[in-house]
Amino acid sequence: MTNNNTPAEDLEKLRILDRERMHLCRAAALLQWDQETYLPPGGAEERAEQLAVLEGVAHDKFTSPEFGGLLDKLGEVKDAGFLQSAPDGFPVSGFLRALKHDYDKAVKLPGGFVRECARAEGLSQAAWVAARKQNDFAAFAPHLEKMIGFAKQKAGYWGWEKERLYDGLLDSFEPSYGVKEIAAVFNPLRDRLQLMLKKITAKQAGSLAWKGNYSIAKQESFCREMMAGIGFDFGRGRLDISAHPFTTTLGFNDVRVTTRYAPADPLSALFSVIHECGHAFYELSLDSVLRYSSLAEGASMGIHESQSRLWENVIGRSRPFWEPWFPRLQEHFPKELGETCFDVFYRQLNNVSPGPIRVEADELSYSLHIILRFELEKKLFSGELSVNDLPAAWNAAMKEYLGVECANDAEGVLQDVHWSMGAFGYFPSYALGNLYGLQFWGKLKEDCGNMDEALEKKEYGAIHAWLKENIHRKGRSALPAELIKEVTGRPLSADDFSDYIEHKYTELYGL
Ligand code: ZN
Repeated sequence: MTNNNTPAEDLEKLRILDRERMHLCRAAALLQWDQETYLPPGGAEERAEQLAVLEGVAHDKFTSPEFGGLLDKLGEVKDAGFLQSAPDGFPVSGFLRALKHDYDKAVKLPGGFVRECARAEGLSQAAWVAARKQNDFAAFAPHLEKMIGFAKQKAGYWGWEKERLYDGLLDSFEPSYGVKEIAAVFNPLRDRLQLMLKKITAKQAGSLAWKGNYSIAKQESFCREMMAGIGFDFGRGRLDISAHPFTTTLGFNDVRVTTRYAPADPLSALFSVIHECGHAFYELSLDSVLRYSSLAEGASMGIHESQSRLWENVIGRSRPFWEPWFPRLQEHFPKELGETCFDVFYRQLNNVSPGPIRVEADELSYSLHIILRFELEKKLFSGELSVNDLPAAWNAAMKEYLGVECANDAEGVLQDVHWSMGAFGYFPSYALGNLYGLQFWGKLKEDCGNMDEALEKKEYGAIHAWLKENIHRKGRSALPAELIKEVTGRPLSADDFSDYIEHKYTELYGL
């Protein structure tokens, strides 16, 4: 499709189409949020249909010839001034790159293939739920085989060569990183974490446990107090309850967080809330020029995770952070925690206790769970490992990396939902988040000074300002590899995170 418009006119048209599509996506996100929080069970069936229709409309709009024509035409513009930014400061080249990335992913898959995948995914997820319940990997294996086949086909349609199909899948979650780049940071990380873990478990085994029954109403009130205290604006967001904690963006001034409460554990909900706040701060600090556009989201999954993990672990599990908050927690739970001394509490927040389950892992073990999955995925896609041999390979890696014996496949290879949905290449983002996070944090401290004193005074302004200026406001206009280099002056490395872990736990465990 051709027209005689100027590039500026084409860009304006494209931005309008993108804006309409984003509105549709946000509306679908609202239906989804409601489905996870307040929808009565009876409404589920109709809701699924409403969502399918709305998502279909958004997809059709995005893949229309008009959209593609404008993208092609603008893709040929070489004028550097035009590409740098629009008169309102909108980053044009980042916008065109992000749209092209999404557009190619959406149009290159044949409709029949997409429908076939969706059907198989539904069956595979149902089979996974049953197999996990019955601890029966063999019943799930044919579905997993199929999911791997579809994932390979998908990467092939996207244009990846046969030898690099797994790179293609990684790229859809963490653009600009492939197997080679990820292995280059994961390998040294694995070695250093394994060594630390061995030292700690030799020194002290077992986990500490909370005692008591912690009122959910009081937990919620403390969560809200802390959210507001660390800077969450309830005028632009909400906290609700769902089965799995998440954050969703419904608009520039509407970012919603959810959590779940466990009466036996006062901190499970709280740390999930701090984690989700890290995601929410990102979404709430975007530059207003990105509003309504496809750039109004994080640079990548991994960069998003860097923000949530920074708040949850680096800040949220630090001694200076808790010094002023612990007395407030004690006031909420005088009977349960009134007599607990701060050092015991702090030690418990950072207890290292390797176990088989990823989502329950401590800060140190967590990345090893991810590296294990990355290495198995890599082998599954290169053909080095067959699906039938997967459980044995899983158990051997668990033993080697974490010193953990899996009692069965349900708490081993069957524990995560991701593979049953065909989400291969997704896991690395979680651990990359830890690495980005510490590299950003190092630079933040270089620029603003040590944050301990500010944290002891509950002053978070300097942290928010730095994160906003250097990361948040840019949204998705830069690729993750560009962003980390631009902000810290160095490419991604595992050093900052490994140093942090070694320093923190050497002190904590007196190694
Ligand atoms: Zn997260």
